[in-house]
Amino acid sequence: MARLPVVTYPDAVLLQKALPVTVFDESVVKLGRDMTETMYAADGVGLAAPQVGLTIRLFVCSPTFDPGDRRVYVNPRLIEVDGKQESEEGCLSLPGVSCKVKRYLSATVEACDLEGNVFQESAMELQARIYQHEIDHLDGTLLINRMGTVARMANRKAIRELEEEFQLK
Ligand SMILES: [Zn+2]
Repeated sequence: MARLPVVTYPDAVLLQKALPVTVFDESVVKLGRDMTETMYAADGVGLAAPQVGLTIRLFVCSPTFDPGDRRVYVNPRLIEVDGKQESEEGCLSLPGVSCKVKRYLSATVEACDLEGNVFQESAMELQARIYQHEIDHLDGTLLINRMGTVARMANRKAIRELEEEFQLK
């Protein structure tokens, strides 16, 4: 297993729409494993492929942060949503930034596992929020795109610092 470097805002790879996985081979299995390790090492509860520089539709998550609770979702899409919730969210690609985001309270995701088998999973609250946050990443949508004016003001300094750091790279 290997830890992968996490891409941060404003890297353009984060703003692209990711493409479906069509070949389920060893490289996808390895990516799922490496992304899971990267997520745990960064104390995250979810990580999407564009965050490690790959524009493919795959994310990993671990809502309970239990090492036994490793999940990989390939080509995920929301097939049913209901209710509303609003909670503080952060993002490994936006260190120092956080804001309240309105999401669906419950969500059912349909995805493939690492062998290409289709499965469905329903979740509420935190896990449903992770689905929505990570699928946002696959569509090139970041927390800052979901911020209202007040949150944007509150995070202005952190966002500017990320932009300045990026220019120095
Ligand atoms: Zn994120």
